[in-house]
Amino acid sequence: MDIQEAKKKVCAAGLQLLREGLVARTWGNVSIKVNDRQMVITPSGRKYDELTPEDMVLVDFYTWKYEGNIKPSSELKLHGEVYKTRTHINSVIHTHQMFASIVAAAQKDVEVLDETHRKILGAAVIKAAPYALPNTKKITVETAKSIESSNAALMANHGVVCIGTTLENAFEVARTLEKACEMFIASKKKKTA
Ligand SMILES: [Zn+2]
Repeated sequence: MDIQEAKKKVCAAGLQLLREGLVARTWGNVSIKVNDRQMVITPSGRKYDELTPEDMVLVDFYTWKYEGNIKPSSELKLHGEVYKTRTHINSVIHTHQMFASIVAAAQKDVEVLDETHRKILGAAVIKAAPYALPNTKKITVETAKSIESSNAALMANHGVVCIGTTLENAFEVARTLEKACEMFIASKKKKTA
């Protein structure tokens, strides 16, 4: 994808995350892969409703070098490792969406109960990567491993990662994961009641 086009899309996606309530507690981050070694990602520590496409950062995910003076999201390595693991993926979204974060805090894998959800999520079970401190090599590697055979992974105590061949697909995965986690939580409540 064209770099300018990707910057516009990533910028708009930040606002969409807010609008759809997928970043309940803190900001998530969004990226689009533009070629075999570069991605455009949201900047670090900025409010999405004050950003313009020029604030999006072009990063090489092999050297971690970036263009310009604006710092990329501190979670850039998480995005980069996913692109290296899943070479057909073109977009990564990291959110702190509510229901998925509840399951992630419990460090449980999610059984996907609905057949349609399974198709969109690409698996019957969404794995929870074991706990590791944010932005460490351990968490990026563990999360990339957890997402090897599905379109989403939970990160223990730290939200989720959703991927897609397009940004729109990644959003659909995020929305579907939220529904799947809500159903999973409800099914557990029934059993213990
Ligand atoms: Zn995060």
